[in-house]
Amino acid sequence: CGIVGIVGRSDVAQRLFDGLKRLEYRGYDSAGICTIVDGELDRRRAEGKLENLAAELGAHPLGGEVGIAHTRWATHGPPTVDNAHPHIAGRVALVHNGIIENFKPLRDELIADGRTFLSETDSEVVAHLVAREVERGASPQDAVATVLPRLHGAFAIAFLFQDDPDLIIGARMGAPLTVGFGKGENYLGSDALALAPLTQQIAYLDEGDWVVARRESVQIYDRGNNPVERAIVTSGASS
Ligand code: GLU
Repeated sequence: CGIVGIVGRSDVAQRLFDGLKRLEYRGYDSAGICTIVDGELDRRRAEGKLENLAAELGAHPLGGEVGIAHTRWATHGPPTVDNAHPHIAGRVALVHNGIIENFKPLRDELIADGRTFLSETDSEVVAHLVAREVERGASPQDAVATVLPRLHGAFAIAFLFQDDPDLIIGARMGAPLTVGFGKGENYLGSDALALAPLTQQIAYLDEGDWVVARRESVQIYDRGNNPVERAIVTSGASS
């Protein structure tokens, strides 16, 4: 339902949480945040209100200067902690808005390949597909480029890669995703409003676009994997 991502220069968990707060108006049934701490993916998730996630973060603080966050509106699998995003497969974490229509054959293929699923969501197949490419030696960027054409449905996705703490990758097909430009930091948001306290410099991804965001660079690609420029606009949203 809602996505926020930060590749930043200071701890991101609180700022990601604040972004989720700004997306609360859209409705949700669970939420979570994943960052990279000491070279490992680490996450906190909770059912129900964001207050529950706040309590979880209070009891078990989460460090890390890069991360992704999600408010979930369940479509596949009930609103449990196990089904809450971010999902992790191998060395890859993701958050997903929307529906992967062909998740069933993809899931069957991945199970036949020996992979173990930990949730009932459609989303988790995407984490496994990308993780499998990474395990086969692909770069994160090539892994995402290989997997995106296999996904049918309407989605926005943000990926985090354990082996590259200077990277978040986003993709948009049928659900909105924006890129926020900061000073030595960059952001992803399903909604410019979520990023308003972080930056007013926003680019809206076009259908089929995906984006490689690092601290000092942002590169957007179209669905044919050609580098493209999208206009950077100043969002009117105030914090
Ligand atoms: N289809 C996914 C799920 O059920 C994502 C739902 C959403 O947009 O939050 O987990």
